[in-house]
Amino acid sequence: MLESERQRIPIYRPVLGAPESDAVARVISTGWVTQGPEVSAFEREFAAFVGAKHACAVSSCTVALHLALRAVGVGPGDEVVVPSHSFIATANSVRYLGALPVFVDVQPETFNLDPARVSRALTPKTRAILAVHQLGMPCDLAALQAIAGSRGLPLVEDAACAAGSELLREGRRERIGLPHGDVACFSFHPRKLLTTGDGGMLTTARPEWDAQFRRWRQHGMSVSDAERHESSGVIFETYTELGYNYRLTDVQAAIGREQLRRLPGLVERRRDQVALYRELLRDIPGLVLPSEPPWARSNWQSFCVRLPDRVDQRAFLQALLDEGVAARRGVMCAHREPAYRSDGGEPWSCGSGPGRCGCGPGGCRELRESERAQDRGVLLPLYDEMSRSDQERVAGLVRRHCGR
Ligand SMILES: *Cc1c(COP(=O)(O)O)cnc(C)c1O
Repeated sequence: MLESERQRIPIYRPVLGAPESDAVARVISTGWVTQGPEVSAFEREFAAFVGAKHACAVSSCTVALHLALRAVGVGPGDEVVVPSHSFIATANSVRYLGALPVFVDVQPETFNLDPARVSRALTPKTRAILAVHQLGMPCDLAALQAIAGSRGLPLVEDAACAAGSELLREGRRERIGLPHGDVACFSFHPRKLLTTGDGGMLTTARPEWDAQFRRWRQHGMSVSDAERHESSGVIFETYTELGYNYRLTDVQAAIGREQLRRLPGLVERRRDQVALYRELLRDIPGLVLPSEPPWARSNWQSFCVRLPDRVDQRAFLQALLDEGVAARRGVMCAHREPAYRSDGGEPWSCGSGPGRCGCGPGGCRELRESERAQDRGVLLPLYDEMSRSDQERVAGLVRRHCGR
């Protein structure tokens, strides 16, 4: 059989089945489909899972980031230190508040913020640090907490990909979302391990922020729908400040509760699959496999390898696609996108001071590792149902097309 006639291997496929459909049917039969009791239960269960005091569900991680930055006090004219090498929503959330994203380069081994560079990028205008756990790999929270703490700066975690990822601290395992910073923001998009279709969650230890998130997600309304529904007296609500409609629905939350039950098993399986990839891909000259720091335990949402310098990324991806295997290039860099260029000056900074970095159409000298990660990185297919023979087929193609 020709390779091209075999079954296609997608980049990703979520795990959804009878438990999720039954949960949806149950919610529909109650007649309450928007934010209600299922959302509350999902929040309680998610908080317990990560060990957080509070968890507030919203409609996506993008809006979670918006609310988190607003809560920690980011506003017009402020600077927020953030990686460019991330999904564009990370940087966009800073701009929603009229603040300036100050892009800091990543470490090549983990694709996460380089703490030494974060220290150098801080200015009197810095209002927060927004760190990403890229592709599920925990960033160096201990170092970032120390930097943020010494400057009295809030630390917000973009944990979009990191549900089920862990840190090892003093011999104990702690889940991402505890939170280790001030607020952690999760995504439940279908490309992440735990999905609700779309959805997000904010976790924090601060009750006043949690209460604030709950008002903002519901138009700034003084009482929730549930309170009004359950009240025996008439309630006239008030709108005390500018809010949004960032609600998760009960239909989504019911799916999320089932997904949360699956999550530990999904992470275990992912870790086995990654061990197999490591075995199958070892000893390919110049191919760099992702590394996990000793204090981190990734959920391995994605497995991003770096191609040898001799291999052209686009040709490599095309060759795999021609054989029915969907891989993707490395994570994007926001600073290279048209949305981050403008005639009236760049809507971002690379933290090196005016005129010093030599940014040009070819890229930014300060963000070399980010650009290399995008240009040399390749995300290989990885999903729960992927079989050993699927992985062998992918690895065989990688080996063949990395040849000299
Ligand atoms: C997916 C993702 C987001 C956006 O999440 P949504 O829930 O789709 O809004 C933000 N940041 C990172 C790092 C992501 O991977």
